[in-house]
Amino acid sequence: MLDTVKELNGFHKHDHTNGHANGHSNGKVAHNDGKTNKSEEKVAIETAVRTILTNVGEDPDREGLLGTPDRIARMYDEILAGYTTDPVKLVNGALFDVEYDDPVIVKEIEYFSMCEHHMLPFFGRAHIAYIPSDKVIGLSKIPRIVEMFARRLQVQERMTRQIAEMIDEVLQPQGVAVVIEGSHMCSMMRGVKKEHPRMMTSYMLGKYREDKDLRREFMDQLRK
Ligand SMILES: [Zn+2]
Repeated sequence: MLDTVKELNGFHKHDHTNGHANGHSNGKVAHNDGKTNKSEEKVAIETAVRTILTNVGEDPDREGLLGTPDRIARMYDEILAGYTTDPVKLVNGALFDVEYDDPVIVKEIEYFSMCEHHMLPFFGRAHIAYIPSDKVIGLSKIPRIVEMFARRLQVQERMTRQIAEMIDEVLQPQGVAVVIEGSHMCSMMRGVKKEHPRMMTSYMLGKYREDKDLRREFMDQLRK
């Protein structure tokens, strides 16, 4: 089961345990740039940011921009941390056997992600419901699952499905529903339109897919 979860997340591509045979150092290998120990990836990102700065007509050596490539490289570590989050560790020890088969609803989970088409943020709230079979997951883990998928280059539709599939995989519940609302900077900042509709995506599995009354009940909960 856990292997499937890894597959599902594309985690295998970034697995620390497979060593550095593929030359991907995962940020752990020191690169000697003369002064600091920076990973090859960080140095490469810094170089790329300098290239962008130069080519948009900036001077990357002016005072305000000098630290920018380094700041961006470090920031990506944080806002794209989802690639290296271990989903197995994330849920480890947080599954509990409970006799409860009404919906568990966690709503208004704030998330920040990055659109993969423009590398600009999209953000909003995720709402999640599941109907347990015999297991529930610790409350704090649901936002962590959302965060793991949000902190990547994403499209909102795929993120919605990935969250639902991971909960389905881990809990084997009777049903899962994920509804996500997102405001996308790439559409907000561009063009002349000053109205910014939020995008809504949803993905339902099991009973939530089959039973429209259950689905409606969940949607009604979201309006409260
Ligand atoms: Zn975009």
